[in-house]
Amino acid sequence: MRTGQLIVISGPSGAGKGTVCKQLLREIENLKISVSATTRDPREGEVNGINYHFTEKEVFLKGIEEDKFLEHAKVYDNYYGTPKKYVMKEIENGNNVLLEIDIQGALQVKEKYPEGVFIFILPPSMQELKNRIVGRGTETAEAIEKRFKSAYEEIKYVEKYDYCVVNDKVELAVERIKAIITAETCKVKHD
Ligand code: 5GP
Repeated sequence: MRTGQLIVISGPSGAGKGTVCKQLLREIENLKISVSATTRDPREGEVNGINYHFTEKEVFLKGIEEDKFLEHAKVYDNYYGTPKKYVMKEIENGNNVLLEIDIQGALQVKEKYPEGVFIFILPPSMQELKNRIVGRGTETAEAIEKRFKSAYEEIKYVEKYDYCVVNDKVELAVERIKAIITAETCKVKHD
């Protein structure tokens, strides 16, 4: 049986990764999302085990020691990590697995699993990015400024990825990513 694809999606806060990923999960049958562990507090409406595995810092650090994460990173003062066992099992079962993770994490995955498909999502403009972060209404003014500043730094990393998708309209971004996944699935592997 053919193994599944590991699809890694990153992009600055406000690029619309979350919405695009949700739509991809609705539209692609054998696509599984990896639920990350995080030490950050849940936001209103977030559910443990669905949005994240909300984890105490001590438990998270123990998980690092025990090599339970495919990658882990500290993002905006909180830890985030991808559970290794779940991801590898699904790939071996022939399912495609989607990781929505930050750049530090994506670069770690690239080292360990270079056959992954690395996709960077860009906003149509920096102004639009700011509007989206502010419009979300979930962050303090200080957090908004922090995320906006990091976005400038993060965008430089686009060249480390295999594909770059502009999220001007969600439906279009989703179509582009579906085309990438189809192409990758049909690709002839040369050893
Ligand atoms: P948020 O707190 O807004 O849900 O996520 C903040 C950032 O952490 C986003 O850029 C998101 O992609 C990233 N992130 C979420 N889960 C993981 C993970 O497991 N590993 C890494 N490296 N980043 C993650």
